[in-house]
Amino acid sequence: MFVRAASWALLGILAVAAASAEERSPPAPGAADSLPVATAARLGGDESQTRFVMDVSRKIDLRAFTLADPYRVVLDIPQVTFRLPPKTGESGRGLIKAFRFGLVMLGGSRMVFDVAKPVRIDKAFVIDAADGAPARLVLDLVATDRESFLRRIALEEKLSRSNLPPPAGAPPAAGGDPRPLVVLDPGHGGIDTGTRAPSGEVEKDIVLDFAKRLRDCIEKSGKYRVLMTRTDDTFVTLADRVRMARDAGAALFVSIHADSLPRREGDAQGASVYTLSEKASDSEAARLAEQENRADVIAGVDLKTEPDDVAGILLDLAQRETKSFSSQFAHTLVSDMKGAIRLHKTPLKSAGFRVLRAPDVPSVLVELGYVSNREDLRSLLSESWRDRAAETVARAIASYFAAHMVGARAGAN
Ligand SMILES: [Zn+2]
Repeated sequence: MFVRAASWALLGILAVAAASAEERSPPAPGAADSLPVATAARLGGDESQTRFVMDVSRKIDLRAFTLADPYRVVLDIPQVTFRLPPKTGESGRGLIKAFRFGLVMLGGSRMVFDVAKPVRIDKAFVIDAADGAPARLVLDLVATDRESFLRRIALEEKLSRSNLPPPAGAPPAAGGDPRPLVVLDPGHGGIDTGTRAPSGEVEKDIVLDFAKRLRDCIEKSGKYRVLMTRTDDTFVTLADRVRMARDAGAALFVSIHADSLPRREGDAQGASVYTLSEKASDSEAARLAEQENRADVIAGVDLKTEPDDVAGILLDLAQRETKSFSSQFAHTLVSDMKGAIRLHKTPLKSAGFRVLRAPDVPSVLVELGYVSNREDLRSLLSESWRDRAAETVARAIASYFAAHMVGARAGAN
């Protein structure tokens, strides 16, 4: 479990209800039945005042706060089982354009509301269940101006900074294990589902299952250690994924995704391998990086607290050796995948992916295929395809290290 308490607390949280994180103990595994259940949600009001109401099986604590650029309202609640009707949150009303909900950490769920303009949280509370009626979570938003919106965020930050927990330590060392460490990074998770197939399958599940198969393939050889940035349906920020790889001394970082192309943009198929670049190799790579970089926005992470701005990326690009290793691995991967699985017509691309910006860890991002393409989706959902693709990537990792080690030895002689 690598989701850090620090990043959780850094979000600039305003305690609206009398709730504290300490009071929430994460439920034991398998305790899903004892979790509160959300069954219905409704929106009311207009562009000056909007109310959100959600029925919950019992009273829960909540904390609400706002984020800027884009304007969002975030509700942090204990882990809840969402049994809301399909498409809930896809369209909005009044000040709320749309909303998302899901797990952000063990024991914690989150709702993120995209709002049309600056808003003030007028009220956020939960009414207890009574006389057979469920408990009700109520969020009242009123329109405000940008200046007051930003002033309030600054104030909330000041309040929350005074009770930050100490920063989380690095993950435990591998006990002197000299084998190279491969970090596998299944994209998205929890509240951030990633792309969605027309038939409903979501990227976060597809890539997690694939990453587990890949881990097993790599570990089988006994030559490498593997660390995964997530092993369950949990949200992890992009910065934490990078940090995890760096702190653990990774020799290679492989982020795994499944793309989707909006229907109006035609059809595309096949796997692609991306490396970091300041300037995208083409417009499709630029679109994709922008989409993948939105993961933190989707999950309600305050980007201000993440030191991964464009200047940082440029600085990191100065790390030429890492860049050249990333590119070597990307080439190896594409040539090994050729023949084994279907590739995109231009399978090697680059763009400004936040998750690839570790200056000292060779990093690539693999898009396994397009969930929007029928043939690709069939592959992505097939167990035998997943196994074959995982074996191919594992083989490429082995040949990359084999070449890399020889090079390192030659350099030392
Ligand atoms: Zn993705």
